[in-house]
Amino acid sequence: VKVIFLDFDGVLNSSASFILESNRRRKLMETDKAAGMLFRVNQTLCHVCCSNFQYILDHVPSDVKIVISSTWREIYDMDWLKAKLQSYGIDSSRVIDKTPACFVGGFTRAPRGQEISEWLEEHPEVTDYVILDDNSDMTVHMDKFVQTSWLTGLTLYNVEKTIDMLGGEDKGGFPF
Ligand SMILES: [Mg+2]
Repeated sequence: VKVIFLDFDGVLNSSASFILESNRRRKLMETDKAAGMLFRVNQTLCHVCCSNFQYILDHVPSDVKIVISSTWREIYDMDWLKAKLQSYGIDSSRVIDKTPACFVGGFTRAPRGQEISEWLEEHPEVTDYVILDDNSDMTVHMDKFVQTSWLTGLTLYNVEKTIDMLGGEDKGGFPF
């Protein structure tokens, strides 16, 4: 089994999509204040980024699974997270787990790379993996790391590289 460690903020959404959603919320507040109050911009993903991610899933072998490494995993349970991904067109049946939350000392958060290391130690069946994240605290995993940008989220450049690293059939032969 191969694994994609998936971050959300800066991968499946972006600064650009937050501007879009903030404007949407502002307009909603003008016409339906109650609905506007309920609309949480920080719970939104980007349809383009999510479509790009699903493109990866469609072009790598079906034994490539998803492990959620985003901090969203500490706020929402797995059913909620899967439903959120599915609502943006991502095949959530590929999600198998989330990484543990690790600390160094009392309250200092361990680098995300360390959390990924701990998960991998528990899963020797994993033969290969890719980390999708906009942050860079990946410790020993730099050769397995595709870094996205908070400005754009997951781009087709990132998609091409990820498919290549996971031995996919279509190495970025995009239709247009
Ligand atoms: Mg992030």
